[in-house]
Amino acid sequence: MNIEERLRDASLTWEGYRLSKGLMRNTPFFSPDQIQAYQLEQLRLVLDACYRYVPYYQKLFWEHGFDPHRVRTLDDVKRLPILTKETVRAKLSDFCSMKELRAAIRLRTSGTTGTPLSVYTSAGQWAVEQGAIWRHWGWAGYRFRDRMAIVRSYSPKAGEPLWKLDRLRNWLYFSPYHLSEAQCRTYLDVMAQWKPKYLRGYPSSLYLLARVAKNEKRRLPGLRAAFTASETLLPHYRAEIEEAFGIKVFDHYGQAEITAMLHECEAHEGLHVLSDYGFVEFLPSDQTGLYRMIATNLQNTAMPLLRYDTGDLVELADKPCSCGRMFPLVRRVVGRSDQLLLHRDGFPIPSINLYTYFAKQDDVVRFQIIQSSREDVEVRIAPRAGVDPEKVAENVRQEMRLRFGGEVNVVPTQEFEQSGEGKCLPILQKARMDT
Ligand SMILES: [Zn+2]
Repeated sequence: MNIEERLRDASLTWEGYRLSKGLMRNTPFFSPDQIQAYQLEQLRLVLDACYRYVPYYQKLFWEHGFDPHRVRTLDDVKRLPILTKETVRAKLSDFCSMKELRAAIRLRTSGTTGTPLSVYTSAGQWAVEQGAIWRHWGWAGYRFRDRMAIVRSYSPKAGEPLWKLDRLRNWLYFSPYHLSEAQCRTYLDVMAQWKPKYLRGYPSSLYLLARVAKNEKRRLPGLRAAFTASETLLPHYRAEIEEAFGIKVFDHYGQAEITAMLHECEAHEGLHVLSDYGFVEFLPSDQTGLYRMIATNLQNTAMPLLRYDTGDLVELADKPCSCGRMFPLVRRVVGRSDQLLLHRDGFPIPSINLYTYFAKQDDVVRFQIIQSSREDVEVRIAPRAGVDPEKVAENVRQEMRLRFGGEVNVVPTQEFEQSGEGKCLPILQKARMDT
């Protein structure tokens, strides 16, 4: 970032902080009617921007005889078709507002599939984005400049130290690319000295740290909570982190396309769908009891996405959260539906099914499933120290053969594929549904 960008970033971060202490502190407690009225007002602004400045929507509205100025309820937007990830990727520039060409902020993501994607956000959306995150941290008691150890967003170049301090915010970053057991010990030593109040990172990174901490009975005195994001928080990851450090995990769900955001509160009964961030529809999916999340962002006039299929499935909670916030509650995000694995006969195998299996395998510390085609499945496992790796692999092999309907290559290893940002996803689906 150059100086101008840094200043703008700082000013929008400040704007977001103010929002989190003002309007956004109150919106979770709005009545359903108030929330709907707020969402409708925001939706109208976004629709108006689509109508005036966004080529894709000008054409779509015309084709569907959709007049954005006659929208009376949130449900009216359901007359428009669901938007897919493929369409956004193929027609990216058509989704950008002609008015905000210069002012928009460009975000780049490596994407879980490894295909980079550029997304543009308006300044207003970026402030809300920051505000939502400040608010979430506030639910865990975080205050500005509380010490936070962050195991993500830092990839040191050769010769650079593996951790670095952001003095302004009081954040100590650690590289997520160097999480061998020995390095975890060093990280824990540094943290024990520095005494962070909060821990933040990818679920897989914090899990690796937690394992070492638990096995060696190391504690981080003064630690209050952990924030996870960007990967599926597997149930046994959560259990290990909470047990090792004697704290609670606050999970965050968001996506690169910035259409929906979900946050776990201090009641830990699920994740709240942030109604002041996006308008989210839940549509029944093919998998019993699970719903697709279709989302419309309520601020982003620079690159509006209406009824965007997030590709993620959720299980809805059967009662409201006991915290009193009115934002809808989801029991869990089950995992990206585009990470579904394929059986040799072509039908999808729900990932949750495999997560449950691996959660019960005490001899497997970590796993990663890489599917390149229906017939080509590689399962990498890191066996627990002291067990016979081949024996563990053979057990897993037998089980995987049953689940995938054919031979599966099970490899005991300590090497796992990481994405460009250092995430380590448990499932890498490289095959297409129709192959
Ligand atoms: Zn709650």
